[in-house]
Amino acid sequence: SMYNFKKIAVVPTAKDFIDIILSKTQRKTPTVVHKQYKITRIRAFYMRKVKFSQQSFHDRLTQILTEFPKLDDVHPFYADLMNVLYDKDHYKLALGQINTARHLIDNVSKDYVRLLKYGDSLYRCKQLKRAALGRMATIMKRQGSNLTYLEQVRQHLARLPSIDPYTRTIIICGFPNVGKSSFINKITRADVEVQPYAFTTKSLYIGHTDYKYLRWQVIDTPGILDHSLEERNVIEMQAVTALAHLRACILYFLDLSEQCGHGLDEQVKLFESIKPLFANKPLIIVANKCDIIKLNELSEEKRASLKSLEEDKEITMLEMSALDDTGVMEVKTEACEKLLSFRVDQKMRTKKVDGVLNRLHVAV
Ligand code: GDP
Repeated sequence: SMYNFKKIAVVPTAKDFIDIILSKTQRKTPTVVHKQYKITRIRAFYMRKVKFSQQSFHDRLTQILTEFPKLDDVHPFYADLMNVLYDKDHYKLALGQINTARHLIDNVSKDYVRLLKYGDSLYRCKQLKRAALGRMATIMKRQGSNLTYLEQVRQHLARLPSIDPYTRTIIICGFPNVGKSSFINKITRADVEVQPYAFTTKSLYIGHTDYKYLRWQVIDTPGILDHSLEERNVIEMQAVTALAHLRACILYFLDLSEQCGHGLDEQVKLFESIKPLFANKPLIIVANKCDIIKLNELSEEKRASLKSLEEDKEITMLEMSALDDTGVMEVKTEACEKLLSFRVDQKMRTKKVDGVLNRLHVAV
């Protein structure tokens, strides 16, 4: 992934920040000065301390400003999640104020170095140095709440799922026990990872597979996309809708045998409920467990429940058995091919998704 969310350095508290830099200044600059020295030498001694402190504050603040992702640069998938997690205005404000603090510290240093040029005694120079470092410390103290907040953000970021929004993705959904994990285990390498999903009690299962020399992500969403959108709170909703920003093909699993405990009616209803999330994405209905019963063996009544799906020209339906492997490779190939030939530019996708999400949020 291009984001090093997991590699941001710990953000110290204001107190630690100040202690670390002042003691570093103490250690890394000369410590001996005498009244008898020439005044230019005395001035240089203290100027060096002021500049060293300024540079250390400056570098550490710059590190924070470069390590934390800029919301305007991150993929909408992460921007959405980050907005849920930390409120984007608060986040931007905190980074903006850190940037201001950096400027203020630079200016304090310039002002005091200028004054030091006229320092006429060791005592006076020492006073000026003290005042300069004191002002820098005061500026940092005022950043206390921003630093604490950014440290919380950092800890959250490290726990976001490792989804690469620039990798082609297959998202699997449907009721529990319809065969989703059986399928993901068939088509992915033995590397399916369970990742906690931010601000939900749920996890994502993320695996990888290859197709046409490309690496694909396969994401199973148990507990996330297996109940209707109306039943969610706003936070959970946003965590879910972030998924809609991915460049993905959607596989909706049906259990033809109904052994999962949900009738076909109900399974189609769930599909209709979450479908708005996937506007503008290729979609495949996987009619699984065809080893137990095939599509053309369904009673007329059951077949009728699938009518709305079969009549929708945008939807492909494929029979499969994750148990005896019937159709498994065909499903994978069709999913990948559909996505490869599906070209939407990212801005369009974001716009459309946002439109859909706004409507959904109003409904929640
Ligand atoms: P998930 O909860 O949707 O991930 O479903 P699982 O993959 O865990 O499957 C639920 C149950 O259905 C398990 O006992 C599987 O062995 C079984 N199962 C999955 N796919 C098939 C299939 O194609 N045919 C049959 N007969 N059983 C299946």
